[in-house]
Amino acid sequence: MSITGFSFPTAIRFGAGARKEVAKHLQSQGLKRPLIVTDKALGALPVLAEFKGHLSGLDVAVFAGVFGNPTASQAMAGAQAYKDHKADCVIGFGGGAALDVAKVVGIAATHEGHILEYVWDHPKVRPIDKELPYFVAMPTTSGTGSEVGRSAVISEDDTHLKRIVFSPKVLAKIVFADPELTLALPANVTAATGMDALTHNIESYLSPAYHPLCDGIALEGTRIAARSLVKAVQEPGNLEARSDMMMASMMGAIAFQKDLGAVHSCAHALGAVCDLHHGLANALMIDTVLAWNYEAAPEKFDELAHVCKVQGGAKEFVPWLRALKARVGITGKLGAHGVKRDQLPRLVEIAVADICHQTNPRPVTAADFQRLFEEAM
Ligand SMILES: [Zn+2]
Repeated sequence: MSITGFSFPTAIRFGAGARKEVAKHLQSQGLKRPLIVTDKALGALPVLAEFKGHLSGLDVAVFAGVFGNPTASQAMAGAQAYKDHKADCVIGFGGGAALDVAKVVGIAATHEGHILEYVWDHPKVRPIDKELPYFVAMPTTSGTGSEVGRSAVISEDDTHLKRIVFSPKVLAKIVFADPELTLALPANVTAATGMDALTHNIESYLSPAYHPLCDGIALEGTRIAARSLVKAVQEPGNLEARSDMMMASMMGAIAFQKDLGAVHSCAHALGAVCDLHHGLANALMIDTVLAWNYEAAPEKFDELAHVCKVQGGAKEFVPWLRALKARVGITGKLGAHGVKRDQLPRLVEIAVADICHQTNPRPVTAADFQRLFEEAM
């Protein structure tokens, strides 16, 4: 057997009210001038103003220039805001987009050149060799789990191509995960982001890579998401359900350092070609892809059915997923969400090129992707 490395390094403060600990924590680190990196919409909402109210004693500036898919120019503008404020730390406050920009603001603020010269596959990739500003991550949605991830997805401004800065150095020094920050999320956002979290847990569990630690986390994350997703959508003020979803989201992202699968390859293609929300795209594909995956790992489907309390075992897991989608209000197939038949060739092309399906329980060819997309249309 080969030797494998495992690493779960992020410190996490989790629970209702955790946001109120941030000021004290920064002060204990000798930090005084945080730059909050957040998105445009969130910057105008009471939730940010309320959080800032807990940062008295610190000299706080806000960069609320993140919108849509985060771009390189947003990251560079954030770095400029960091320098202008003479900041000494970064607080990422938001969903996956804001957190991804927040992760790289520190690189662009302290290193030479353009942020795109730091993406992992740049032909002359620059090293991240200076110390990065202290980085605190605060999720305000429960889906991507970006707060515990070591990568940031940043799009090129002109081509919209998604590039990835990947380094353990962009990991948050500490996460303050406060489910109260998600209480005001609308039902459709709760549903789509929650389906993303559930998909991360399920796909990483199904991946054949050797990672028993992540398998354990993924299975428990699946259990927690399964018991609370519907409740979080139907009772937005239910703090217990909101807490469960925030935990399941972090567990999914920790688990998928193991790997993902073909559902994510399809979702990445749907995001690039049709601009579909990532969580919604996963939700629209997951039952079709998993039904096809079934024969490669029936025992694992049995475990999934068990933790989700699905009556009837492995074979009933995919039908349960379909019913779950309906219960959280995600209905209609790809066509109903604006995907056109003439986009299929491009979707297949991008899905094949995507790296996630390399750890799908069943190998996936272009013809397979074609069939899967057609079935989901
Ligand atoms: Zn995802």
